[in-house]
Amino acid sequence: MIKHYTNGEITVVWTPDICTHSGVCARGLRPVFDPTRKPWIELQHSDSETIKAQVAKCPSGALSIEPK
Ligand code: SF4
Repeated sequence: MIKHYTNGEITVVWTPDICTHSGVCARGLRPVFDPTRKPWIELQHSDSETIKAQVAKCPSGALSIEPK
């Protein structure tokens, strides 16, 4: 299962099977990555550059930005 989340500008891809639940994303950008919420990723709470920077810090590669 692979999930996609878009704000019309960028698309964040999340692959739960390889997520190690390290919490790096939630600690770094909680308004966007909130594991207590459904859906847990809501891109409207930040801007695309900030989101891309946080996605790049995901240690497992579970988060990525879909190439255009
Ligand atoms: S940073 Fe990556 S590995 Fe860690 S919880 Fe978020 S998606 Fe999962």
